[in-house]
Amino acid sequence: MTGPVLSFLGETHCELGPAADASGHPWRHGEADGIHWLVLDCEGSSVNTVSEQVLTGLDAALDQIGTPRALVIRSAKPAGFAAGADIDSFNDMRDQGAAALLQQGHAVLDRLEALDCPTIAIVHGAALGAGFEIALACDHRIAIDGAKFGFPEVNLGLHPGLGGSFRLTGLIDPTEAMTLMLTGKSAHTAKAERLGIVDAVTEERHVAAAVAAIAEGENDRPEPGLKSRAFRIEAARSYAAGRMRSETEKKAPRAHYPAPYALIDIWEKYGDDRDRMQKAEIESFADLLDSETSRNLRRVFFLRQRLKAETRGADGISHVHVIGAGAMGAEIAAWAAIQGKQVTLGDVKLAPLGQAVKAAAQTCLDKHLSSGETRDALDRLMPDPRGYGLARADLVIEAAPEDADLKSGIYREVGKKLKDGAILASNTSSLRLETLKDGVADPTRFAGLHFFNPVSRMQLVEVVRLETTDDAVLRRLAAFCGAIDRLPVRVADAPGFLVNRALTPYLMEAMVLMDEGIDKEVIDRAALDFGMPMGPVALADQVGLDIGLHVATSLSEALDKPMPPISQRLRDKVEAGETGKKAGKGFYDWSDGTPHPQAEDAPPEDLTDRLILPMLDACVACLRKGVARSADEVDGAMIFATGFAPFRGGPMHYARTRGHAEIADRLDTLAERHGPRFAADRGWREM
Ligand code: NAD
Repeated sequence: MTGPVLSFLGETHCELGPAADASGHPWRHGEADGIHWLVLDCEGSSVNTVSEQVLTGLDAALDQIGTPRALVIRSAKPAGFAAGADIDSFNDMRDQGAAALLQQGHAVLDRLEALDCPTIAIVHGAALGAGFEIALACDHRIAIDGAKFGFPEVNLGLHPGLGGSFRLTGLIDPTEAMTLMLTGKSAHTAKAERLGIVDAVTEERHVAAAVAAIAEGENDRPEPGLKSRAFRIEAARSYAAGRMRSETEKKAPRAHYPAPYALIDIWEKYGDDRDRMQKAEIESFADLLDSETSRNLRRVFFLRQRLKAETRGADGISHVHVIGAGAMGAEIAAWAAIQGKQVTLGDVKLAPLGQAVKAAAQTCLDKHLSSGETRDALDRLMPDPRGYGLARADLVIEAAPEDADLKSGIYREVGKKLKDGAILASNTSSLRLETLKDGVADPTRFAGLHFFNPVSRMQLVEVVRLETTDDAVLRRLAAFCGAIDRLPVRVADAPGFLVNRALTPYLMEAMVLMDEGIDKEVIDRAALDFGMPMGPVALADQVGLDIGLHVATSLSEALDKPMPPISQRLRDKVEAGETGKKAGKGFYDWSDGTPHPQAEDAPPEDLTDRLILPMLDACVACLRKGVARSADEVDGAMIFATGFAPFRGGPMHYARTRGHAEIADRLDTLAERHGPRFAADRGWREM
């Protein structure tokens, strides 16, 4: 067999056959010193995904290998081993009978596992999901430094389906294996080695020697340890399973996220019986594939792809200047620097600049950056009290206090200094950009770039267009979001844009409910039970009650539809300086960390609808008025900015599932009971 040696595989390996053979199988063959190499090289993609063709191709390849001294499996893609199953194929798989297809896939991996010769997976980059499962079916795994292993299936409402459940629990400490599968987190090289997922970590240039050693029988895998043996006893598994359930319940309640519980059940029942566990894994995966939760979580995956698609193209931005080093400016500057941009950060005071650099170092720690990466990121972040960076910046982000006159004044000053082609963007959350435009020298290069707090965790950025904004500027801003690993959504310059317009009624209605005498924990519990990541009272505390009050006041003034009346209790809290999490106290006491609302009392029958439906109504109004471009973008924005119950697929998807007419009727009923703020937007009837 001839073919090019893949450069990154190094010169010590064999020559490989062509990328796809006549039958289109994505495995390339090679042979050297009696060792057979099977190299996965999915056509037309920079990453391997595991499709039916990959598995049937592997089956066909195993027919051809003869009796080698050893079989090596690895990837031809510099990006990594394999990124898991092709999510596009899940719907087809469901339609074609998932269980039967899974059985065929299992048969191939069982065959790989049963080969007489030593089998070795060489893993560089990511081996996730089904990719990890192929590696697990080998006798040995060698990781190249930087490799990572994981089962992200829970994020799609699934659990491993190609043997991962019994192979990983059979290989390493089963509680560690279950934790990986239940959390969807990855184990990077050092952890993978410590857990026993890999036999060794090496550098690319030593791969051939490591393979040769295994082929010579010099590298026996250790037997599973004491802990693995202990969990062969059902009582031990039951005890551990109970703890796993209660841990999981805190993050993913069973009613909304069935997959982790299905996996725990399988392991608890069959953890000592590989064959029964295999059968149960297949059946359970097929069931979950058809569950509403998994369908909706797969939808969330595509919503993300859709927003990401907007980031294509070059941003032409290497230097960013941020004005204002307060809560937001400091975070935006740090994040942009961490993501590789050259950043200057200005403020009228010196103290916030010092704090910003300290906070940036903390973000690097939180994000597990190496010391070298941290040093480079901090080198890129320059405190700039005199604003020298303005003249060099390709993008200026203004994050000064929420005051129209102040911002206009800043724009007037900045306009004189900007270089040709530079973009000026405001991070304002509640001011209309139209009202700030007067001070702007070139309105075609002025737009909104609305980040959410905390920037390092909230993925969404609203890219706000004015009528005057040049389309190329909006494209560059969207590309900039991609370059700093955030997701852009385009919105129009309307009060509250999209996300705050939709979220504020939810937060303010919670205050009205408290004024009616309903306990905050009852309110928050109801929202959590619906699937929100945080109740509205706790969220208001987290956002900052002063900020919430400001946004609510300006929205109430700007909207043609009434908002919930602003609660006196909220004003009092702000007046007393009890502004929420940042002050240690708001409606909740935050001194002991994030509150976990417990509620004995059942909420009033219409409480959840009073919280959730106005949010949906605002989304519909935004669509009708062209503030947002499509229902899918609304769903993506609300999920990635607010964490709106992902298993419901987004607010507009939830509305579709429940029925537009039924929601409009319900809103009108609520309006009769509680006031015109609930009246259904006419967009519902037009949909
Ligand atoms: P902040 O009060 O924490 O910080 C503002 C900073 O700007 C302060 O450090 C202040 O010294 C500095 N400043 C004041 N005048 C200045 C001037 N003329 N030039 C340069 N710097 C000046 O405010 P924040 O919460 O970071 O909000 C900033 C902007 O971001 C606002 O428009 C706000 O609406 C928006 N925003 C805030 C949040 C949030 O959760 N805090 C979220 C999204 C958007």
